[in-house]
Amino acid sequence: MAAGQRGVEERPGWRRALPGRETKDVSAIGFGASPLGGVFGHADEHEAALAVDRAFSRGISLFDTSPFYGSGASEQALGRCLAASESMNASPRSSLYLCSKVGRYGPSSFDFSGEAVRKSVFTSLARLGTAYLDAVHMHDVEFADLNHVTRSALPALEQLRREGHVRNIGVSALPLSALRKLFSLAKKDERGREGTPDLCLSYCRSNLLDSSFDQLLQPELASKHVGCINASPLAMGLLTNAGPPSWHPAPQSVKDACGNAARHTDNLAGVALRSCIQRTRASCTLVGMRSRDEVDSNIDAAIEALSGKWQSELAHSLSGVETELDPVRGMTWPSGLAENNDFDLLAQEQRDELYRNA
Ligand code: NAD
Repeated sequence: MAAGQRGVEERPGWRRALPGRETKDVSAIGFGASPLGGVFGHADEHEAALAVDRAFSRGISLFDTSPFYGSGASEQALGRCLAASESMNASPRSSLYLCSKVGRYGPSSFDFSGEAVRKSVFTSLARLGTAYLDAVHMHDVEFADLNHVTRSALPALEQLRREGHVRNIGVSALPLSALRKLFSLAKKDERGREGTPDLCLSYCRSNLLDSSFDQLLQPELASKHVGCINASPLAMGLLTNAGPPSWHPAPQSVKDACGNAARHTDNLAGVALRSCIQRTRASCTLVGMRSRDEVDSNIDAAIEALSGKWQSELAHSLSGVETELDPVRGMTWPSGLAENNDFDLLAQEQRDELYRNA
């Protein structure tokens, strides 16, 4: 790869240390590949391949996927896009930070057993065409018994790490309580464990709508040298002018407030991403992308946010957008088992819903 080809890498704040078993510099924004699995509607694979190549050639180093996204379709598509990427092929494998997940395979299909985890990682390696994964996250652990996750999935991943197939072990969930509990259980388990997970992937909890991850969990994790990845700065499409997909689990009041916020700008995604990059305390923010236009807009937004100088019309929109979001700020929604949820952060009607579904 020619020197300087990757453009933004030398910008202050673009490369950030992601702590973990293996601390590594990663880009301030990462490429979320769930859209490549059709999670947000059809993704054209030719355009996706160009987007992946554009992302890497412009300096994005972290790519995230999961066997859950499109039942393997995202991993397969990302594998093909990586293999086709000229900029990637001209670079050493060490310039890429590739993440996938284990444990979640469908909307209600979970398996955190050691055997399933092992099989899943080998399937991911084959789909992605790589000899190792930089990180494997235990996916949406709030849907499982956390004791089971720490006693089965975690040791299986540690074994895979010893064998060289996995470099860092992470955990993802929506409720902060589930993440906190998982870390504390993992720490307490003395039976042949090597320690806590290296990484925490939190989503929809560090953006224009909700900053609870930065306030309530990130500082504690950072003090323990756990690397933090922030996903969904656009709140899974809520903070875009196109609006969220039909499956979006947010309460209607949040959807309405975001719709009202979109009336203040024709680039709500730009406002949301700039604001998120300036405020988040995570090392990397994962944005779901499927086109070169999205890649370019998001990299440009991140660069602007890091420089502290926003395009004036977007800076002007921020206060109107924030006013619309104020009444629903910090509102979250139930996810997974009742015992793993953030009861103190849920509205009464949502608590009732959790118990009804328990
Ligand atoms: P997101 O907030 O990044 O929003 C993605 C949506 O916004 C997509 O529809 C995308 O096409 C659109 N978009 C992106 N850039 C845009 C732009 N500039 N203008 C307008 N629209 C734009 O949500 P996400 O994709 O769910 O989150 C990012 C990534 O984080 C995922 O792809 C996945 O890799 C990861 N993630 C992990 C978990 C988990 O582990 N439980 C949960 C959520 C997300």
